[in-house]
Amino acid sequence: LTSKLPDVGTSIFSVMSQLAAECGAINLAQGFPDYDPPQALTEALARHARTSGHHQYAPMPGLPRLREAISHKTAAVYGVAAPNPDTEITVTSGATEALYAVLAAVVRPGDEVLVLEPAYDLYGPAIRLQGGTPVYVPLRVPEFTPDWDQVKAALSPRTRLVMINTPHNPSGAVLSAQDMNTLAELLADTNAFLLSDEVYEHMVFDGQRHHSALQVPALAERSFVLSSFGKTYHATGWKVGYCIAPPALTAEVRRVHQFLTFAVSTPAQHALADVLADAEQYRTLPAFYQQKRDLFVGLLQASRFELLPVPGSYFALARYHQVSAEGDAAFAQRLTRECGVAVIPVSAFYHDGLDQGLIRFCFAKRDETLRLAAERLCRV
Ligand code: PMP
Ligand code: GLN
Repeated sequence: LTSKLPDVGTSIFSVMSQLAAECGAINLAQGFPDYDPPQALTEALARHARTSGHHQYAPMPGLPRLREAISHKTAAVYGVAAPNPDTEITVTSGATEALYAVLAAVVRPGDEVLVLEPAYDLYGPAIRLQGGTPVYVPLRVPEFTPDWDQVKAALSPRTRLVMINTPHNPSGAVLSAQDMNTLAELLADTNAFLLSDEVYEHMVFDGQRHHSALQVPALAERSFVLSSFGKTYHATGWKVGYCIAPPALTAEVRRVHQFLTFAVSTPAQHALADVLADAEQYRTLPAFYQQKRDLFVGLLQASRFELLPVPGSYFALARYHQVSAEGDAAFAQRLTRECGVAVIPVSAFYHDGLDQGLIRFCFAKRDETLRLAAERLCRV
């Protein structure tokens, strides 16, 4: 078989998690918490698992009661008109499936898709599998903010889709209201759609706010906005996410979704519908993760790692030039083996493997895990 993705290896997240397991290292590499979802959610899942009739296919677009809960929550959080659960919300197998379904629905051979780099590792390959051409625009280091003039210059009549991710993986950068307005102005003259990956929407710190594409009408009308319950409820293994888009766009996403996964786990959707009306989890998430950020960043002050500011997400980037002159991939491997802390090399988020001597830590870990990891990191 001739590979359709000959240049793509196994995802860095799998590679580093496997290495961490082999070495018995603390896994600050792949992004997932080492604590469980809120008890109300796990109890709800257990309840629905015991309920007869909750074990067969859910409706293709998602359980109506979950889509209604998503609609209410979206309106309450962003102060926008409630998205129509019947025509504007689709529940997907994580944001991953939503990303793929949107790209498959929108991108035709020869289309260009504008991607800001560093970017989540699936964006480029998923675009190329649709016959699209990713057009990469680098974010400005070290703030990882977009240079909108460069974005403007990269737009062409063939640009079918622009992809943004705020808060940003891996940098934690958060787009401002001004950024969103600028983007709306740039797209006003185009026929491009927007995919706004907002899976870390509730992880923004220091009193700042997340600005959703849903809050800018000129963007919302051309946007697919994605989120993930995996991030917000410490349940990455449940693989439940969703896509909000205007009716005509949602119809196209569902055309793909119905043949990709058809529907999402029924008991998981029921459990999430039970807890979503309670705002406690997402209201407290910024403070929850800010405490972890501050703990981790504070502990690493005593190390030779130079941490970059972390405005959002549960990731922190660090320069390691005082520790080693190695490339980031080699350094990440050695840190895992010799120091017992696994991390992600940031070059994995660049299509050409651009190495800027940066590694990514995930701080979605129990305080004692962070303390133990920091102790080890302070010794190198
Ligand atoms: N987008 C980004 C930016 C992510 O970091 C992730 C999670 N790693 C996803 C999408 C995928 O989310 P999910 O786990 O819900 O599939
Ligand atoms: N999004 C997570 C990360 O960036 C990992 C997801 C995955 O393993 N595919 O670490």
